[in-house]
Amino acid sequence: MSLFALPRLRLAHLPTPVEPLPRLTAALGGGLELWVKRDDQTGLAFGGNKTRKLEYLMAEAQAHGARMVITAGAAQSNHCRQTAAAAARLGLECLLVLVGPPGDPHPTGNRFLMHLFGARFRWTTPASRDEDLQRAFQEAWAEGKRPYLIPYGGSSPVGAAAYAYALEELLVQQDFHPDVIVLASSSGGTQAGLVAGARLLGYRGRIIGISVDAPAEVLRSRVAHLASEVLDRLRAPGTIAPEEVEVVDTYAEPGYGVLTEREEEAILLAARTEGLLVDPVYTGRALAGLIDLVRQGAFAPGTRVLFWHTGGTPALLAEPYRAQVLDAASRYNGDQS
Ligand SMILES: *Cc1c(COP(=O)(O)O)cnc(C)c1O
Repeated sequence: MSLFALPRLRLAHLPTPVEPLPRLTAALGGGLELWVKRDDQTGLAFGGNKTRKLEYLMAEAQAHGARMVITAGAAQSNHCRQTAAAAARLGLECLLVLVGPPGDPHPTGNRFLMHLFGARFRWTTPASRDEDLQRAFQEAWAEGKRPYLIPYGGSSPVGAAAYAYALEELLVQQDFHPDVIVLASSSGGTQAGLVAGARLLGYRGRIIGISVDAPAEVLRSRVAHLASEVLDRLRAPGTIAPEEVEVVDTYAEPGYGVLTEREEEAILLAARTEGLLVDPVYTGRALAGLIDLVRQGAFAPGTRVLFWHTGGTPALLAEPYRAQVLDAASRYNGDQS
């Protein structure tokens, strides 16, 4: 069982551990077995799913003779933080096109870390993000920087392919075959890689993407399209249809990065039953979704459910999330603190 090998650099600490979650399992009931795949521990500046993608993206950048990488993201983008770290490690310049107002004189969380890695910034709005990214690329090219453009979330076919390899890693690990994999899904690359990997490796379990922002229909076709491109990159025949992709968008409704009581509960429950950190934007929302699905009885007793932790923990220390979670924690304590 081995996939076609794409060029790769070593940036990640692999394999990441797979761990049982006995106290969270007991807290939720339902007779399930909950496990976690610790991709919050991939290394490279606090880890996360982008480290895996960057191993292939940066290999491609180097093959193109790039001296600079350019990418885009939210002000608290984990992808931008990890790209800036990888660029520093490889001696490349890094330009980040971030969505948001530039103002903050005291950046926290991921934004603080992007500064630390020496990235340069441009600020944009959601509406002009793609255009500004293209313009930044063209300007850098004209200046002779030989830039390499990494798409939003690192979700090019090459970046997404990292998760086909990640599924292979999981399946050989302690011969662990979960019935269901649950993960946070946004630009869709992580889920696309897993779905393509499942096809290639004959994995028959469900892969449920909890949408962080997009409506299910949009995300399903995005993932299917990317997964088909991953198959192509891995020189495998066939395509993935949107109907083969499982997405739940019930928890996306408050919008990207909006912390609600659901995410607060998930963050506190993971912290207090397992000493496990999940983030306010992605993994907190995905775990909240998983918790809700378990409570609704969506999984039969005995089901082995693997929560694929995709990282993001530095955002927990970013304002305003830190203050909000602190507030929620004191309410959760019955105001004892
Ligand atoms: C980027 C990110 C995701 C989403 O991954 P996609 O491949 O963009 O769908 C999930 N969790 C965290 C912590 C992330 O940073």
